Amino acid sequence: MQEFEHYIDGRFERGTRHADTLDPATGTPWARIPMADTADVARAVEAAERAFRTGPWPAMTASARGKLLLKLADLIEAAAPRLAEIETRDTGKIIRETRTQIAYVAEYYRYYAGLADKIEGAHLPIDKPDMEVWLRREPVGVVAAIVPWNSQLFLSAVKLGPALAAGCTVVLKASEDGPAPLLEFARFVHEAGFPAGVVNLLTGGPEVGQALCTHPKVAHIAFTGGPETARHIVRASAENLSRTSLELGGKSPFIVFADADIDSAVNAQVSAIFAATGQSCVAGSRLLVEGSVKETFLAQLAERARTARIGAPGLMETEIGPLCTERQRGRILDLIARSEAAGARIVTGGRMPEGPGFFFPPTILDCTHAPDAPCLHEEFFGPVLSVLPFNDEAEALHLANDTAYGLAAGVFTTSLTRAHRMIRGIRAGVVWVNTYRAVSPLAPFGGHGLSGHGREGGLAAALDYTTVKTVWLRTSDDPIPDPFIMR
Ligand code: NAD
Repeated sequence: MQEFEHYIDGRFERGTRHADTLDPATGTPWARIPMADTADVARAVEAAERAFRTGPWPAMTASARGKLLLKLADLIEAAAPRLAEIETRDTGKIIRETRTQIAYVAEYYRYYAGLADKIEGAHLPIDKPDMEVWLRREPVGVVAAIVPWNSQLFLSAVKLGPALAAGCTVVLKASEDGPAPLLEFARFVHEAGFPAGVVNLLTGGPEVGQALCTHPKVAHIAFTGGPETARHIVRASAENLSRTSLELGGKSPFIVFADADIDSAVNAQVSAIFAATGQSCVAGSRLLVEGSVKETFLAQLAERARTARIGAPGLMETEIGPLCTERQRGRILDLIARSEAAGARIVTGGRMPEGPGFFFPPTILDCTHAPDAPCLHEEFFGPVLSVLPFNDEAEALHLANDTAYGLAAGVFTTSLTRAHRMIRGIRAGVVWVNTYRAVSPLAPFGGHGLSGHGREGGLAAALDYTTVKTVWLRTSDDPIPDPFIMR
């Protein structure tokens, strides 16, 4: 079996505790991963703190940091086929997706490489002629980055890229499920030449995450995962009043008006809910469709769901791979059962398939007669779409916003004016019009409500890892006048 290691203070370590990681397509172990303990966490944070305060990292210019990030991007790009293979093996994400996504991971690091020397302070034109006042943008310190099991290379790139560009150091905790691609990624951090302690990478479950979040030397916790875990994270952050940024789940509406290009909308809906076997925070998991086109739309969609090629994630022709874990499949089945009990009707899928691996079929639930079914409100994080018809634009908007989440939304219409009204009315961090799942390093991404706060991507993300220092410098050689008058 292949073995993976932690990366702490510039060294690879086998660790003292280990676990097997499973191939979700077969349910059998394929590699051994280390599992950190609280002592490992403490060493990693101490190393990151040391690297932040002393050594070559704080002495490095911003453009030198950018060059390291560029080198990292090149190494990732060169190793993309291997990284994609490992991610597919460890998480079940299909190879077509992992290959494309890893190419994008390199682009995120490139974007932040270019941004490193563009994080600027400011000069303030205040009304005191004998004072110079300016703002320095300084890195916030040690960042604890915690990621979930889906897309770990990508979800860590959107944290590491801006944090390193800003001059922070990082302790990255991979998920206990599917961590192999991230542990492999540490090899490229090392090869790129980042000084020891600047990036530390370990894996483990909730107790490791807690130890990281409560460590007094962690200044910022950058978390991606579910809202329940986010509550633990925020409570843990209260210990040292450290900052948090939270990228959480969603129950994103996918809204189809009767005037939309239906073929195109069907394609986008397939991608929105069945790509990554639905294990995507931005999954368009609530189809809101205008009543007059509901049957046509559903018929086309159900046909696509039934004929999707389910199979080995490593084959290029596969469209739907397995879920990452058996636990996830259990959660999905439970939510389907509760939704059926509430009146939702299965259009297709919905039942546990036979055979090895953690597969689950693309599933559509018609909630026309069950508007309060739990499947319309709770996140599946799987290939399950809940459908609700609407009569007019006002109802579409009301239903779109009838959620505690607020991550993303898709609007399909050929009316320009309606598109603008919907964009204004929808409460979500991202609105896609006549498209879905498009991302770019330049474009901020994040949510409201149960979907979290803070933005990843773009300049805003790098600024989030900085703090402002206000500097006052008196330019007069005269003695300071009356000490009791505030200047
Ligand atoms: P999760 O919340 O169970 O776990 C996420 C990470 O948190 C893991 O590394 C886990 O080990 C760690 N963790 C668990 N308990 C912890 C604790 N008490 N303290 C500190 N760390 C702890 O999430 P998951 O099931 O792995 O992933 C699915 C969730 O992630 C979904 O809700 C999904 O929508 C969300 N997600 C969001 C985005 C986004 O960008 N908004 C992207 C991908 C996934």
